[in-house]
Amino acid sequence: MESAKQPVVRKTLDERNQMSDLERLRHSCAHIMATAVTRLWPQARLDIGPPTEEGYYYDFDLDGHRFSPEDFEAIELEMKKVVKENQVFERQTKSREEALQFFQERGQPFKVERLGDIPEGEAITFYQNGEFVDLCAGPHVMRTGNVKAFKLLRVAATYYRGNEKNPQLQRIYGTAFPNKTQLNEWLAAQEEARKRDHRRIGKAMQLFTFDDDVGPGLPLWMPKGSVLIEELEKLAKETEFEAGYQRVRTPHLAKESMYKTSGHLPYYAESMFPPMELVEDAAEGEKEEVKERYYLKAMNCPHHHKIFSAVPRSYRELPLRLAEYGTCYRYEQSGELMGLMRVRSMQMNDAHIYCTPDQFAAEFKAVNEMYLKYFKVFGFEKYQMRFSTHDSERLGEKFVDEPELWKKTEDMVREVLIESGIDYVEIPNEAAFYGPKIDVQVYSISGREFTIATNQVDFAVPSRFGLQYRSPENQFETPLCIHRAPLGTHERFLAFLIEHYAGNFPLWLAPEQVRILPITEDQLEDAKSLEAELRRHGVRAEMEYSHDKLQGRILKAEESKVHTMLIMGAKEQEAKAVAVRVHGKGNQGVRPREQVVSQLLEQIALRSAD
Ligand SMILES: [Zn+2]
Ligand SMILES: [Zn+2]
Repeated sequence: MESAKQPVVRKTLDERNQMSDLERLRHSCAHIMATAVTRLWPQARLDIGPPTEEGYYYDFDLDGHRFSPEDFEAIELEMKKVVKENQVFERQTKSREEALQFFQERGQPFKVERLGDIPEGEAITFYQNGEFVDLCAGPHVMRTGNVKAFKLLRVAATYYRGNEKNPQLQRIYGTAFPNKTQLNEWLAAQEEARKRDHRRIGKAMQLFTFDDDVGPGLPLWMPKGSVLIEELEKLAKETEFEAGYQRVRTPHLAKESMYKTSGHLPYYAESMFPPMELVEDAAEGEKEEVKERYYLKAMNCPHHHKIFSAVPRSYRELPLRLAEYGTCYRYEQSGELMGLMRVRSMQMNDAHIYCTPDQFAAEFKAVNEMYLKYFKVFGFEKYQMRFSTHDSERLGEKFVDEPELWKKTEDMVREVLIESGIDYVEIPNEAAFYGPKIDVQVYSISGREFTIATNQVDFAVPSRFGLQYRSPENQFETPLCIHRAPLGTHERFLAFLIEHYAGNFPLWLAPEQVRILPITEDQLEDAKSLEAELRRHGVRAEMEYSHDKLQGRILKAEESKVHTMLIMGAKEQEAKAVAVRVHGKGNQGVRPREQVVSQLLEQIALRSAD
């Protein structure tokens, strides 16, 4: 048993030795923080302090004081002193007995336990800076003076070794950078991300909500959020209609047998909600028997395959493109739910394209072009496609055993990508079981990354479902299937869009497009007629009149992120004009009412980025 464990430990040590310069700096800063904390609270017991993706942390067990951000100033001040003292990080090796004695004498029970993790025969190393000594594999920077820019971030409660049965510890998070400029840039980016957080904006704008009685991960879309959803669906439906798709609608659940055919059961069972069991009526005293199990659907594909096979198909009907905004349900672990980014019910911009091998390249190309068209609409300037291919060594195991189909489709996909001049990377050995796939990585204005659901080729499942069409030679053939969802799910895509636009949606998407503000009661009638005219054309316009001052009403509209304000006073009324103000852009001048209406309609119809 011991020897089997050994390589894993080795690897961890190797990884530690391969710590990047930044991690080395941050880990050293964790030691500096622990030095400062033990100076201020000498009774603190220490656990561990590794570097993390954003910086580092250190876990303390401390009686009689709960750390809070109010302590940060004092701790940071003490850290600065440690840095100024320019202490050397000195590596020491101790025998197991020496190490044990060292920590027992100092009343450090966690360190004593952590010593037990180090395998027999492995060197036990300590690092000392000034008076602070820690059990540590290192490495560190040379001196505390090398740590020039740091900041404490937050505190959190945690459990020793992450186990709730163990004592609770207090964790202090911090970060460090090679210099002040980099630290400040990172802090500014964090602040920007916080402001753009879709959970925060979603609440402030009343876009969506969660309710304990409905259940975790099951978002409720409020009126303004529903507008966003419907606008996206309209865009998708128009785009797909133009591209020759046909719409279908399917139920939210299906019998167990279908998911066995699709292979979701048993392989995907953990990600699905548990089944609903229909029970046969039993006579008194007899045991009830389960007659049928139904599952909420985790994917739309099997339902669409059933529509394909509902009638005999001929090659003349191909490519057949079936589209649906299908709602799927996945049982994500509750700890993994996060706002709209990870949910349990999701509305997917789904479609399945059934085609012949000869039609594949053209269909695949058209799908890619659809992605690019959407990116243009939303102003995603930076993106990258990740093309995942198979590994011929693992056919029949990780990948369906169809060597020729793999080669042929991968060559076709590669050709299409090169020909379209799309920025892509090829990732071997990452394809889906049943065919190559493409993930798309897009970047928001603020640089945030987002992966849009895949574009997949499937040459295994159609045969599992017995899908067939009659070829020109009157033979039965199995079609290829392309799974695609360029807008992913409403939930994730909107989370991304909310952050991309920081809630300041372009006119066509804005939940409230126009607010009409008459200055006095004399303009009330004209303002109402303008509201009615705009609404007749489908514009989301609201007239707002109150005795509040105009400035206050404008401020309120700006805060609600209303896209365009049309202000009407006596002068404008007389000239059959309105004063136009755009959210975040200020006054656009007084213009004739008719001109304003037609410009708004044009801007909406074009889904312009403004
Ligand atoms: Zn250390
Ligand atoms: Zn699918």
